[in-house]
Amino acid sequence: MKKLGDMNKEEFRRVGHDLIDWIADYFDNIEELPVLAAIEPGDLKAKLPTSAPVQGESMEAIIADLDRLIVPALTHWSHPSFFAYFATSTSAPGIFGELLSAAFDNKAMLWRTSPASTELEEVVLDWLRQMMGLDPGMLGIIYDTASVSSLHAIAAAREGVEKRIREEGMSGRPDLPLLRVYVSEQSHSSIEKAVITLGLGQRGLRKIPTDSKFRMDVRALEAAINEDKRNGYLPFCIVATVGTTSTSSIDPVPEIIPIGEEHAMWLHVDAAYAGSAAVVPELQHILAGCERADSLVMNPHKWLFTPFDLSVLYCRHMDLLKRAFSLVPEYLRTPEQEKVRSGSDYGIQLGRRFRALKLWMVMRYFGQEGLAARIREHCRLAQLFASWVDESADWELMAPVPLGLVCFRAAGDDSLNESIMHGVNASGRALLSHTRLNDKLTLRLSIGNIRTTEKHVHDVWELLNEQRRLGL
Ligand code: PLP
Repeated sequence: MKKLGDMNKEEFRRVGHDLIDWIADYFDNIEELPVLAAIEPGDLKAKLPTSAPVQGESMEAIIADLDRLIVPALTHWSHPSFFAYFATSTSAPGIFGELLSAAFDNKAMLWRTSPASTELEEVVLDWLRQMMGLDPGMLGIIYDTASVSSLHAIAAAREGVEKRIREEGMSGRPDLPLLRVYVSEQSHSSIEKAVITLGLGQRGLRKIPTDSKFRMDVRALEAAINEDKRNGYLPFCIVATVGTTSTSSIDPVPEIIPIGEEHAMWLHVDAAYAGSAAVVPELQHILAGCERADSLVMNPHKWLFTPFDLSVLYCRHMDLLKRAFSLVPEYLRTPEQEKVRSGSDYGIQLGRRFRALKLWMVMRYFGQEGLAARIREHCRLAQLFASWVDESADWELMAPVPLGLVCFRAAGDDSLNESIMHGVNASGRALLSHTRLNDKLTLRLSIGNIRTTEKHVHDVWELLNEQRRLGL
């Protein structure tokens, strides 16, 4: 039987060093692993015991199973040829930040339960705000994901309609008109989920058509709001997307702003993916107009080399966010509460992870220029790949390429494109994902991994052409 208490310190040091070596080897050898897990559903479960071990096991045995069982069941997001969804990556300083955060194990619900987390978060998010060129009136707060950040933004917007929804709820209220949120047809599903979660119902969301470049049609937005108002609805929030999921298109925020202002609506900007690109000075124009937005979400865990999860909500009306969520029972009252920020006042969670630590370490280690240089290179690689597509009669571009994402397809039908994508993914040498644009299956190549170089982009181009020839 093991003694009581935690692992002894000698073992902790030994295993800790071994594990860092293990991670270093994992990164060194990652290109030998298939990007997409080459297993069938249920394969891992079948190899695992159905109940926990009765006696504790050695770390050596556990780490051996990491190699034997876990690694083969991983899809390797850190692989430099991971081009699917939005390619993202962790980084060494981010990993160290995550490790330290686990060691400190702070629950930053009140200032006093983690002054370091609370204050570092405020400072780091102000650094990031400056780097992105956002307005100083925007204060930041960290949540886990953009889905949750946007949910909180829409909850704050709802609080701002002054209909006593916090106190009286929404159901059984004949005095309450139908509240509506407006998004483009290309918006992320997280907004619809937020609307559902907040009890507004799917009919509380109106999807606005997009133009030929997949951007919200502003005239259609205006017409929809006016029509809804005539019908007695209460339009209260517009969600514009800067960097949509399918194509990275950018809604025309400068034109949307006056419409929101005219109707006293909250403008939330979903820049979950593209927001990071604003740290590159010559790309900062993607956030044009956002200086007048009410809130904006961006995800350092997408394109700022910070391990999942870390999403930032910038909000101009922290008072409304607090009004929507603050509830302080006796056991959480502290003498300093009027003078400090307490994270639990701004969301549904009580305890909060010390996420700012990893972002602080990433920002300090790479610096503003280092972060910008990496994102700039990803955008250059996306342009390079797009130029190969554009110059080839065998392929076509399906959308503009403003950042690090290329949407393209092989000339031919959907089944050819499907077989190309499956061929590439099954090879294990690269991973792509798809979308549907203008009713055509479209391949997406997203470049955002810190290890991706021109060679990887060149290799996937060769692989695509190989698969196209096989599919003909
Ligand atoms: N918004 C946009 C535009 C996205 O592309 C994504 C994910 O790709 C999300 C929101 C959701 O992000 P998260 O996984 O952080 O909730």
